[in-house]
Amino acid sequence: MSGKLLRIGFIGGGKMAQAMAKGFISAGLTKPETIISSSHPSDLASLKAFKDLGAESVTENIPVVQKSQIVIVSVKPHIVPIALGDLKDANIDDDKLYLSVAMGVTIKQLEQILPKGSRVIRVMPNTPALVQSGASVFVKGNAATEGDTTITKKLLQSIGTCEEVSEGMMDAVTALSGSGPAYVYLFIEALADGGVKMGLPRDLAYRLAAQTVLGGGKMVRDTKTHPGVLKDDVTSPGGSTATGIHFLEERAFRGTVMGAIEAATKRCKEVA
Ligand code: NAD
Repeated sequence: MSGKLLRIGFIGGGKMAQAMAKGFISAGLTKPETIISSSHPSDLASLKAFKDLGAESVTENIPVVQKSQIVIVSVKPHIVPIALGDLKDANIDDDKLYLSVAMGVTIKQLEQILPKGSRVIRVMPNTPALVQSGASVFVKGNAATEGDTTITKKLLQSIGTCEEVSEGMMDAVTALSGSGPAYVYLFIEALADGGVKMGLPRDLAYRLAAQTVLGGGKMVRDTKTHPGVLKDDVTSPGGSTATGIHFLEERAFRGTVMGAIEAATKRCKEVA
């Protein structure tokens, strides 16, 4: 597959599919002309989004699979059996790699729904994929090959970072990095609201808050220094940062965030 443009199909053309498609195109792995996406007929916004991208945008799932080497299953979890059920009686080659991003849908379930022997990889991406800053993990299905792992890594690395994990970790990963952008947006909003409360203009407050979160993340990732050490470095004795940290810790900041990951992990198991 290397060197050639990948023919990629999305079953479900919503937010995650759009983020991934834009990332793959920006990375030069494919072009709009080699992308096809299906959406529900009533979902005009998704249909328009893929059309506007220059890709083929349809309301049936069979052509998506027939025309693609890599089929990305990106419908909501409860729709997966319905959408893949559409493929049952279709004439489809077995030379396809199926990547599923559906939360909580296991490799076993996917392998049961798809034709016997299908090559399946389960992926948990996140929406910063849209700006090539996603954090993805993947789990290999029983029939997936080393070549499938290589192409999956190439695709996911084009939209951020990517790591292989065991399936038992998937719910916690979903709670941390799948849902995580939402928690980060809350934090950015809160930082900015605090700045505005203390007299900063709104737009400056958002810019400073977003860049601070980005910078902090890069410091942890790139220096590989423990976040506690980095925190100590910016906390002078008797200073304002120590006062701010004390305020957060009195209100169980870290315990609250940890509890959110635990609650979201449990919720993943409930909806699975
Ligand atoms: P979404 O609601 O934006 O998109 C769902 C898409 O499925 C829509 O385009 C809809 O038209 C289409 N659809 C509905 N019924 C269909 C059918 N029968 N056949 C074909 N298409 C159909 O949802 P989303 O946020 O893009 O999530 C999609 C998947 O990605 C989910 O399984 C979710 O768990 C996973 N995911 C999402 C995120 C995220 O941050 N949004 C992160 C990680 C994983």
